[in-house]
Amino acid sequence: MRIEDLNIQPITAFEVAGSHLVMVYPSIFQGVTVVFCAKAKNADVVQVIHDCTLCQAYGHKRCPYIKEGIKHFMMYKEKRFSSYNILRRHVPVNPKWKQIPVPTVEVERKGVQENEPVT
Ligand SMILES: [Zn+2]
Repeated sequence: MRIEDLNIQPITAFEVAGSHLVMVYPSIFQGVTVVFCAKAKNADVVQVIHDCTLCQAYGHKRCPYIKEGIKHFMMYKEKRFSSYNILRRHVPVNPKWKQIPVPTVEVERKGVQENEPVT
């Protein structure tokens, strides 16, 4: 089985400082895997802070957690980002973060509908 094909369902999400998103996924090994996403200073770039066993074994470009994290971040922001920067660092869950519902595709669909031209 390819690691890119892993089906990863988020456990929960946190909002940090009102604009950053932290996604928590079950680790395929033990415990949880955390992906921190923020908007980089360059408009269309996601700043990702993340590290995990898969990143260490296969490189972050193949990490399915980063892929999922960015997907959820785009749903959260209702916006597409063209690329990302990675800061390889393990992010511990902070109990002070605000827990929010996991962003879903419904937000994205709603956004698309709003942009449809009125006929
Ligand atoms: Zn990873």
